[in-house]
Amino acid sequence: MPNVFENALNQIHRAAELAKIDENVLKQINIPMREVRVAIPVKMDDGSLRMFEGFRVQHNNWRGPFKGGIRYHQQVDIHEVKALATWMTFKCAVCGIPMGGGKGGVIVNPKELSEAELEKLTRGWVRSMKGVIGPEIDVPAPDLNTTPREMDWVADEFGHPAVVTGKTIKAGGSAGRGTATATGGYYVLETLKERLLLEPEMQSVVIQGFGNAGRMMAQIMHRHGWKVLATSDSSGGVYNPAGLDIDALAKHKDETKSVQNFAGAQNITNEKLLEIECGLLIPAAMENQIHAGNAGNIKAKVMLELANGPTTPEADDILREKGIEVIPDILANSGGVTVSYYEWEQNMKGEVWTESQVDDKLKLAMTEATNAVWERKEKYNTDLRRGAFILGLERLQETQK
Ligand code: NAD
Repeated sequence: MPNVFENALNQIHRAAELAKIDENVLKQINIPMREVRVAIPVKMDDGSLRMFEGFRVQHNNWRGPFKGGIRYHQQVDIHEVKALATWMTFKCAVCGIPMGGGKGGVIVNPKELSEAELEKLTRGWVRSMKGVIGPEIDVPAPDLNTTPREMDWVADEFGHPAVVTGKTIKAGGSAGRGTATATGGYYVLETLKERLLLEPEMQSVVIQGFGNAGRMMAQIMHRHGWKVLATSDSSGGVYNPAGLDIDALAKHKDETKSVQNFAGAQNITNEKLLEIECGLLIPAAMENQIHAGNAGNIKAKVMLELANGPTTPEADDILREKGIEVIPDILANSGGVTVSYYEWEQNMKGEVWTESQVDDKLKLAMTEATNAVWERKEKYNTDLRRGAFILGLERLQETQK
């Protein structure tokens, strides 16, 4: 399987072939502006010293300060962080916010660390990134396995709330940030529903991943009358053809730490989950989940990528041939960074916006971005992914330094 940074470049170049993009823009987008690798010492609870490896990649800041999450995962590597930073550059351009693309990571299985050790690790990452991050330089946010708790530690260690977004409300977080990725995805879907012919009888959904993004999306879809047929976490999935009771499932997950063995539903593997016949499939877990080996088995009508990079370019081709429309990550999950930007703006101006102010702005931003992507899809007679990358490239070209 190609590394995900190659996937990201491949997606950009496929789009650039269709639209007239300045070659100098492409040359500069091919290479992140800066890559930082740090070693973080942590005194563990048992008194031993453990070293952790951390990263920050700053891909492009023509449109504004670098912006992007910090990922804690045992398999984080520099290619993955470069890919995620590149997608952030495009995501910010597509949703129209004045921010650039960055991403960070630490190689760690956070489940193996106590809260005190995680706090030392997070504060250590911030100290190592002195001069690299800052409210007007580079503004991190949560990603896989990081939450408002970690973001509060980042703000506290740095000494300014605007250095990071996704904080708790008491530490300067924004109303609506916790639900923004899923809510944004829902607005994108609402804008496209009729154009994608997702009639009421097609309103069944399968969601891979039940974390920050997937769980909230399941709750929103359930609340709007969609039948959530199946969902999963890293231990496997659960399936009920009649639809899952998402609130009860969320409670079950909190109590047992797993979605599996949920009353009235059958356990299912993550592989089988992707093959369920449904109106909408939402990958909301990790990259490269849909690849040449399984794309042919997908039976959804439409796919909405809440995860970053869940589909390889080869799988994209297979899905296109099968007539499955893919709403790409750089549009579908851009609600998260949009409200992150609103949080940053509130912190910089010393303002506090209400949830409905944030929600109105988010809805407008998502609707405009979705329509702009659709226009490129139509104009170039292509798919939504290429349409979104073309929009991103056009907007980056306008601000080329
Ligand atoms: P999270 O850590 O809260 O949740 C991830 C979920 O995926 C968990 O339920 C985990 O058990 C599950 N998972 C992990 N590996 C899996 C596998 N192989 N098969 C099935 N499930 C698996 O992370 P998150 O914040 O929800 O992020 C999920 C995805 O969404 C990532 O790609 C992330 O980059 C993207 N994303 C998140 C946000 C956000 O605001 N949280 C914003 C934009 C994009």
